[in-house]
Amino acid sequence: APVLQAQGAARRFPNGTQALAPVTLDVGAGEFVSLLGPSGCGKTTLLRLFAGLDHPSAGRIGRGPEAGRLSYVFQDPTLMPWATVARNVRLPFDLRRGPGRLGAAERQRRVDAALKRVGLGEFADALPHELSGGMRMRVSIARALVTDPAVLLMDEPFGALDDITRQRLDDDLLAVARAQRLTVVFVTHSIFEAVYLSSRVIVMSPRPGRVTADIPIDAPVRDA
Ligand code: ADP
Ligand code: ADP
Repeated sequence: APVLQAQGAARRFPNGTQALAPVTLDVGAGEFVSLLGPSGCGKTTLLRLFAGLDHPSAGRIGRGPEAGRLSYVFQDPTLMPWATVARNVRLPFDLRRGPGRLGAAERQRRVDAALKRVGLGEFADALPHELSGGMRMRVSIARALVTDPAVLLMDEPFGALDDITRQRLDDDLLAVARAQRLTVVFVTHSIFEAVYLSSRVIVMSPRPGRVTADIPIDAPVRDA
């Protein structure tokens, strides 16, 4: 069964903008899907529908059980500037109440592991302004990974970074996605990044936003 599903899902905003014409597609477990297209083609709109941050104005969005463990990475790292790196990464635990809540030691262990996974093991006590842009984005990814998600939705996370930093983050993201068997939907307007990262590239075009191609990327290309 698909992890994420759009069945004729469309989004028209109250001001009349048709941000997304009806889209039908399935995302399966373990796929790394890129949504590729120019500004305004509805990439963010579709990603927010998958995340449940917004609702379709027609059609429906389906989510498999894996999507109960879903993390969303925004375009900006959006860190709390007064809080240490570790405190920023711990935020999802601090927001979680009730019986599912982890003990302090287990939370600390997971924060440490998430920071190590993104190469920031040494920076737990640093403040965001002490870090480079690439490192701040790594903190944001650690915060998304700390809850052990099955599904990672990323809205053009590396768009503001220089090419070399972006390449490093792409490589590290691929390693994490493979090691943890994540299902990823990744928004980008870089053809290179889409083909480099993905097992499948979904091409979109604007006015109104719609899917115009759905292209599998062969393993030989991916792993060359
Ligand atoms: P992309 O992520 O591909 O740049 P978006 O999904 O952000 O595109 O936007 C698609 C279209 O919908 C754009 O024309 C944008 O201006 C419009 N749009 C996005 N959000 C809203 C909103 N809340 N109200 C009205 N129009 C919106
Ligand atoms: P990356 O995103 O791959 O970490 P960046 O270009 O963001 O690359 O940073 C380059 C390197 O500069 C980092 O890997 C880090 O070792 C170093 N660096 C940047 N800011 C600091 C800092 N405040 N303290 C120590 N090292 C730093």
